[in-house]
Amino acid sequence: MAALDDVAKAPEGVPSLVQRYRAVVCDLDGVVYRGPEAVDHAVSALSALTVPVVYATNNASRPPQEVAAHLTDLGLHVSGRDVATSSEAGAAELARRLPPGSTVLAIGGEGVREALRQHSFRVVTGTQAQESRDETYAGVLQGYGPAVTASDLAQAAYAVSAGALWVATNIDETLPTHLGTAPGNGTLVAAVQRATGCEPIVVGKPHAPLYRLCADRLGQPASQLLAVGDRLDTDIAGAVEAGMDSALVLTGVDSVTSLAGAPAPLRPTYVVPDLRALVEDYVPAETDYSWWVCGADRRRITDGGWDVARAGSPIEQARAGLACLHESLDHGELDIRGAERLATEIDYWQ
Ligand SMILES: [Mg+2]
Repeated sequence: MAALDDVAKAPEGVPSLVQRYRAVVCDLDGVVYRGPEAVDHAVSALSALTVPVVYATNNASRPPQEVAAHLTDLGLHVSGRDVATSSEAGAAELARRLPPGSTVLAIGGEGVREALRQHSFRVVTGTQAQESRDETYAGVLQGYGPAVTASDLAQAAYAVSAGALWVATNIDETLPTHLGTAPGNGTLVAAVQRATGCEPIVVGKPHAPLYRLCADRLGQPASQLLAVGDRLDTDIAGAVEAGMDSALVLTGVDSVTSLAGAPAPLRPTYVVPDLRALVEDYVPAETDYSWWVCGADRRRITDGGWDVARAGSPIEQARAGLACLHESLDHGELDIRGAERLATEIDYWQ
């Protein structure tokens, strides 16, 4: 059982960030875990939440039960139903568009095959497709699997060229592994794209279907949900696309610096150091004439540099600083490089 004593809840009568919403849609990698290990404070903070959580992952290779087992090992109480994968979103998309019992070519890991079986499709793998050449396919679901071969990609290309409805679970180009950067599903999808000249329907983040699946499962409208993630170009862009508020957690890929240069559709509603902030009072940056103020921090940009009246805590500096930088960026007073350079002067730990 996770220790809860490192979570400082909002004071009595002050709503915590999460109490503004009916449920949370939470990313996994870089937010809850990094490889096999839990991210600091994630388990205790998630255990302290009083609203339901669905974990949404672009990773299509593992079935939800396997992801839930990993989370349970880390100390969370999670079932397969609490995990939504891009394979499930892909299978749901095909089920909306194809008659029940249709034959679908499954390219990817067990997560892809199992999601299709849940919708009563007739599932054919790439290896089986190679052996039964007369088969015709109503659909193709392509997701990442560590054992996907060039032959699997060829089968996908043949089926797509013959008119099968092509759904890709996600188009993340890279996959970080302990040995380095491997080609992600987006790179494998691009191979089929190049071969066929066709475009897939994409369901994973930054596209909205995976988030919509989460909203359906939670039985809540998107406007009542908070999406939490560590990547601007997937988690936050997807939340904007799906109509959800979002929180960027600074424990993963993106930082104060990368957020500083982000265009408006990639900006989160909130920026938090780690998941403990969900059960704390959120202090936003507010404008005061030419100044931006967050808690004890008060600053503005003059002559392309910081004018700091009072420096607050690191996260207060980050929130007030980002508000200044985005305002200057939007008014054309700074370019992306200038915003990122000024962001590195904020006293945050990234
Ligand atoms: Mg992530």
